[in-house]
Amino acid sequence: MRIFCPHCGERGLEEFTYAQDAERARPTDGGATPTKEWEGYVYLRDNLKGPRREYWYHGGGCHAWLVVERDVSTHEILSVTVP
Ligand SMILES: [Zn+2]
Repeated sequence: MRIFCPHCGERGLEEFTYAQDAERARPTDGGATPTKEWEGYVYLRDNLKGPRREYWYHGGGCHAWLVVERDVSTHEILSVTVP
C-alpha cells in the first residue's frame, strides 16, 4: 500500500503509522470521572467495512498528521488531507 502525502508525494506504507479512527467523537465530559461513554471511546471498536477516515502520522517523512480516507475492505486510498 502506498499513501500520497500532500507534502512529500507518494510514499511507501513503512513511512507511516496508523493512529486512530478519525470519525469517532470524543466524549464531552472532559474525562473527570470514568463513565460508560469513556469506556466505550477508549476500549470498544466497531470494525466497520467500507470507506473510513483515519489519522495517520508521516514519521518517515514530514512528520505531519494526515487524515486518510481508506476503504478498509480493499485498502484503496480515496483521499488524503491535512487536518
Ligand atoms: Zn509527508
